[in-house]
Parts: sequence; C-alpha cells; structure tokens
Amino acid sequence: MLRGNQALIDRDLAVLWHPCTQMKDHEALPPVPIRRGQGVWLEDFEGKRYLDAISSWWVNLFGHANPYINAALRAQAEELEHVILAGFAHEPAVRLAERLVSLAPPGLSRCFYADNGSSAVEVALKMSYHHWRNLGRTRKTRFITLENSYHGETLGALAVGNVPLYKETYAPLLMDVISVPSPDCYHRAPGESWDAHALRRFADMESALASHAEEACAVIVEPLVQCAGGMRMYPPVYLQRLREACDRHGVHLIADEIAVGFGRTGTLFAFEQAGITPDFLCLSKGLTGGYLPLSAVLTRESIYQAFYDDYASQKAFLHSHSYTGNALACAVALATLDLFERDDVIARNRDKSKTMSEAAAVFADHPHVAEVRQTGMILAIELVKDKASREPYPWQERRGLSVYRHGLDRGVLLRPLGNVIYFMPPYVISDEEIRFMADVAYEGVCRATED
Ligand SMILES: *Cc1c(COP(=O)(O)O)cnc(C)c1O
Repeated sequence: MLRGNQALIDRDLAVLWHPCTQMKDHEALPPVPIRRGQGVWLEDFEGKRYLDAISSWWVNLFGHANPYINAALRAQAEELEHVILAGFAHEPAVRLAERLVSLAPPGLSRCFYADNGSSAVEVALKMSYHHWRNLGRTRKTRFITLENSYHGETLGALAVGNVPLYKETYAPLLMDVISVPSPDCYHRAPGESWDAHALRRFADMESALASHAEEACAVIVEPLVQCAGGMRMYPPVYLQRLREACDRHGVHLIADEIAVGFGRTGTLFAFEQAGITPDFLCLSKGLTGGYLPLSAVLTRESIYQAFYDDYASQKAFLHSHSYTGNALACAVALATLDLFERDDVIARNRDKSKTMSEAAAVFADHPHVAEVRQTGMILAIELVKDKASREPYPWQERRGLSVYRHGLDRGVLLRPLGNVIYFMPPYVISDEEIRFMADVAYEGVCRATED
C-alpha cells in the first residue's frame, strides 16, 4: 500500500470533486494533501511545510490549531454541540450576539445567524426586500451592485456579484440587478488620486440611485476591497458618499464584510474608516478565526421592528438554516474575539502591514508589475504583459498559476486570482515569515514572466 502523500491523493481523486476547480487540472498538479497545521504553517504527509499566505481562503486569523481556540472548542463540545435555534436559546449564541452588537457602531442592534457567507448575503437581500414589503413598498424588488464585486456562489449572492468568471455561465438563472461601474482605483487616470477617482465614479452610483430609488431595495458593496475581483481597492470617501445618497433616496446599504471584516483592512470593520453605519452588516470567514462555518447579519432596530407583529400579520422572517447559530461555531467565534482584545491585534497589525509593504516594495520596479496596492493586511500585485500600457496577459497563459506552482515548490501557499498575486496572511505571521513569503512570490513572478 502506498503511504505518504500519494496514498491520500489517489483516494481523493477517486471520490472527491474539489471546489472552484477544473478537476482535469489535477492530472498535472494533484491536490496537496495536508496532515496538520500549526500557526501559519501547513504540513503534508512527508513533512514538507507550506506557509499559508492566503489564510486558507481568507478565513484564518490566529493560525492553525491555535491552542486558545482549540481549548474553547473542546470545552464547548463537552457542554453542548448544537441545538435548534428556533424556539431555543443557548449561551454562546447570545453571548456572541451581545459582543458583535457591542463591537458594531451604534444602531446595529440585532444579530441574525446563518452558516456561511453566501447565506448571510441571501439573508441580507431577503430581509431588505421583506422590510420594504412589510412597509407596503411592494415596488421595491431590485438591488444595486458594483461591477467586479463578489458576494458568494448561491444564486441570489451570485446575481448581486459581478465577476464574469463565476457569473456568466449561470446568467439565465439569475435575478436581474442594477450594475454600476466600480470605484476600483486600478482604473484611475494617470496622476489621478484615489479620492478623485472614487468621487468621479460616484456620479454613476448617484444617477443609478436617482433613477431606481422607487424599485431599489438596497445597494450591496464590499467596503474598501473587492477581494475575489482581484483585490481591487477604493478609498473610504466612496462609502461616505454612498451612505449619504442611500439615505437621501431611501435605499438600504448592505456592507458585505465577509472577507474584509475582522481587521483585514486595518480596522475591525472596513466601513469604520468611512465613519458610517450600514443598514446590514454581513460577517463570516474570519468570524470563527477560520475554524467553523458561521455567519451573522447585523441590522438596525427599525428594520427588526418592521417584522415584529402578531403572527397573523404574516410579517415574520421565516428564514432558517439547519445549523443556524451552531454552539461550537459560536464558541470559537467568542474565543477569536477574545484574542483580538487580549493581544491588541488591530494595533499590532499596523506594524505587520508596514513589514508587508517593505517586503513587497521590490515588486514595484518589476517590468511586469503594473501596480502594488495595499489596504491594511491585504497586499496585491498586479501582473501585466506590458507595464506602460497595462495590457494584461491573456488569461489562457495562466501566469498566476505558474506563480502558484513555484510557491508550492518553495513552501508557500499563494493562490493568485488570475494574474493578481496577493498576500492575506494570518495575523500570527512573523516579520521573518512575511519576508520569506514575499521573496518566494518575487521569484515566482520573475519565473512566470520570463518569456
Ligand atoms: C467569500 C465571500 C462570500 C461568500 O462566503 P462563503 O462562505 O464562501 O459562501 C461573500 N462575500 C464576500 C465578500 C466573500 O469574500
């Protein structure tokens, strides 16, 4: 019998269908079998280690097998693993809702749980629509979204997202949305500031709101960084304008902080940098420190009150998922929030993001790098065929994939988004590990762009 990596690979390929994968690619590059994790490191069955530079798809905050979170998980498992949350309550769900409400800006006073990011987006969309319906505003049935945005893979979430790679195939199945050009600052004019560009782009949003206010339930955005859309970034001023315009036109603002929440952009929540409060806040990914699927939608008391009535009024929000408010997941989320407080993580990350910026400075002069951009703990490098014109590499060449392969050879898990290489590491990464991650990525970029 084969041992080590190959044994697991063979069994895997016989039965598994991997997410977001052309399975035929595994003929050339099999999945990497992981035996255990420790801190920022993953280890395969033959002792080879990989630095997890992308936090295992943006979920991990405090490292793999974190002793503090492990202990919380163990303790909770001894007490209560799960109970139906309709008609029942438990301590971790209540405690977590209390803490999320206290961390969110005043106004967001109600917490609704779901069990993954996409379903949190579905909840926010349905709640927004249903809120207006309960008020008799039955013409409000549509959503406004930004180009290049990503909100998940279920049909509602996919419909309000706007990355063609994921969306186009399923277009005939999706509800029709109002799509507005993104403030994405990669596309700013030469010499133009981020703010000037974002403000110029806001004119499109303003006119969409003006023409569709009667039929629009909400605008949904990823505050500051459009992550799956290639880590494209824009400044807080856009969110300030958006908040003001949504209020003026009577349209909700949904902040999808599933990826950017929990410190990724340098503040606990990204929208804080704009000094605004959304009407719905979607949280997942880092919420449980990368341990278990859980999501939460926070909303305003006034929205909650629009559903609160006698049963016969038929205004209730009859939405649920089997694992809503799972006790184990809530317990690890509470432990994750403990670590933020105990270690003053937001402040410490300021130094780490500076180290990231220094370690990645070398990319700026590379002949095939159009831009190095950073917001907090997210740093992205845009590879192009031609630096001056920013002509992209044809996607068929899969340059990012060769950076990925080089990373694996050298022991760094990078998973470029097309031709965008990025770092979004767990916060427990050391300065030395940051430099290693950047060095390996730089070698990978040099090789991938040789010809
Ligand atoms: C990942 C992501 C989602 C979807 O979350 P899943 O848990 O993968 O369903 C939604 N919105 C944003 C911004 C995301 O990055």
